[in-house]
Amino acid sequence: MASEKTLAIVLRVVEFSETSCVVTLFTRDFGKVGALAKGARRPKSSFESALDLLAVCRIVFLHKSAETLDLLTEAKLERRFRNAQRDLSRLYAAYYVAELLRELTDEGDPQPDLYEAADAALSELEGATELARVVLRFEMTALRLLGHLPALGGCAACGQPIALAGRHPFALAAGGLLCPACRPGHRQVVSVTAATIQVLRQFAACDSDTWRDVTWDARTCGELRGVLNQYVCRLLDHRPRMHAYLGLLGHATR
Ligand SMILES: [Zn+2]
Repeated sequence: MASEKTLAIVLRVVEFSETSCVVTLFTRDFGKVGALAKGARRPKSSFESALDLLAVCRIVFLHKSAETLDLLTEAKLERRFRNAQRDLSRLYAAYYVAELLRELTDEGDPQPDLYEAADAALSELEGATELARVVLRFEMTALRLLGHLPALGGCAACGQPIALAGRHPFALAAGGLLCPACRPGHRQVVSVTAATIQVLRQFAACDSDTWRDVTWDARTCGELRGVLNQYVCRLLDHRPRMHAYLGLLGHATR
């Protein structure tokens, strides 16, 4: 049983017994980890108060064999999610980041770049960056890193490049744009404007800060939230819980 050290974001804390909790963590070096934190609910535990939802902590855990929970032996708080603006929508957006990490990743699959992206998104949500912008950037980055990015440059079925003009069919199941030749026969297709596709492309670009300056009007923002929400639902096979609380994003420019 190896003892491992890493940084982790707390995604979920569930009471397990009178004194212990089971925590779901997204770690920088080991991906998602489910671990038992013995004694975490005691007043003077070795975890102090590090195991708060959305907190970033430095942890030590014992990696157990498959099928058993890992054992968390230490957690030191690095940063708590502060929500300094006391804005509920920013808190919900942070919960949504945690929900996507939990739902889209598997245990034992290290995703260090995704960890950095999540850490950055939580920091941005503590600051003043426009909420809809931070959420969209995190979603597109997570989809790209996990290999789920929809086809936005070419046809999802045949790969032909697509020149953007007017409206284009976007297939939820096939995973992106369709060329006119491939359009027939596909179900779950929505129609999206070139402007929406352009914005999605800019937010998906890696190692680029252009997403901070992309200009979008309320209509484009509403349309891209619509298509992306449906796409994420399709991917997860259910509606993320936090979608219900993120209605503001469709009209948001805050
Ligand atoms: Zn095609």
